[in-house]
Amino acid sequence: MNELALAIDIGATKVAVGLVTRDGAVISRTDISSQAHSMEELNKSLAAAIGEQLAQAPSSVIGVGIGSAGPINHLKGTINPVNISQWVDFSLVDFVRSVSAITEVHLIGDASALAYAEFCVGAGRGATNLLGVVVSTGIGGGTVLDGKFFPGAMGNAGFIGHTVVIIDGDQCACGARGCVEAYASGTNMARNAKMERFEDVAEAARKGDAAALAVIDKGARVLATGLVNAVATMDLDTIVVGGGVINAADVYWQPLQSHFEKQVECLKFPSRISLKRATLGKDSGLIGAGLVGFISADQREGAM
Ligand SMILES: [Zn+2]
Repeated sequence: MNELALAIDIGATKVAVGLVTRDGAVISRTDISSQAHSMEELNKSLAAAIGEQLAQAPSSVIGVGIGSAGPINHLKGTINPVNISQWVDFSLVDFVRSVSAITEVHLIGDASALAYAEFCVGAGRGATNLLGVVVSTGIGGGTVLDGKFFPGAMGNAGFIGHTVVIIDGDQCACGARGCVEAYASGTNMARNAKMERFEDVAEAARKGDAAALAVIDKGARVLATGLVNAVATMDLDTIVVGGGVINAADVYWQPLQSHFEKQVECLKFPSRISLKRATLGKDSGLIGAGLVGFISADQREGAM
């Protein structure tokens, strides 16, 4: 039986709605803009996209997974995406349940979606304890522990961007000082290089610009510290890093890997720890949301 899950991926500027197989294949999708004048307008286009996907599903859709920019509250089923003001504290899970008429709706963070997608069908296949990290405008993370998706109490497990690595360090947007994100996100690396975008920093680094190379090295070093702290906390075997910054892997990956290897050595206990680049690209959020959509449906079936 080729069961399907409905996947919804909420990004900064668009929302993707698609159908995902158990193998992690996206067989169809509708993209809508997340920029709308009102909540009603946004909800209407989301409902239409969900309706369109369900109407063309070639086999039964048994669950729904939603991946959203954080923070999320999966107990309440609400999201708080910074870039979509219409949906602040919005009960997205209830809304999707009523529109789709599917009761199994699972809300996760976008980085958790990447983590689970890479674990199931990407760079993290074969892992048992995995951290997936998204390095982009911010830094997000998600975890798989003991071979199972691990969301934590509110759905934000693996939120390593806001772990503090430098006491009294740089001010972070969250209010704390010295967070990983304050140095290592694409946005903050650009700010530290006094450039507009991280892409410009990467370009300058390619040309050998010493200041740009230093900023990337610092960002990579701070992220490595955050990753090693996560290894120490959870005894991980695999870390998968994705997100926009990884598009500049030619100038970013080598410093990240060398700082990570140097720092993780001091832990002594990991017998094998792989640091890998994400392989699923931009679809990882949609794939992970879909694969998580199967989890609650399967649990329900198992309980019956
Ligand atoms: Zn922070």
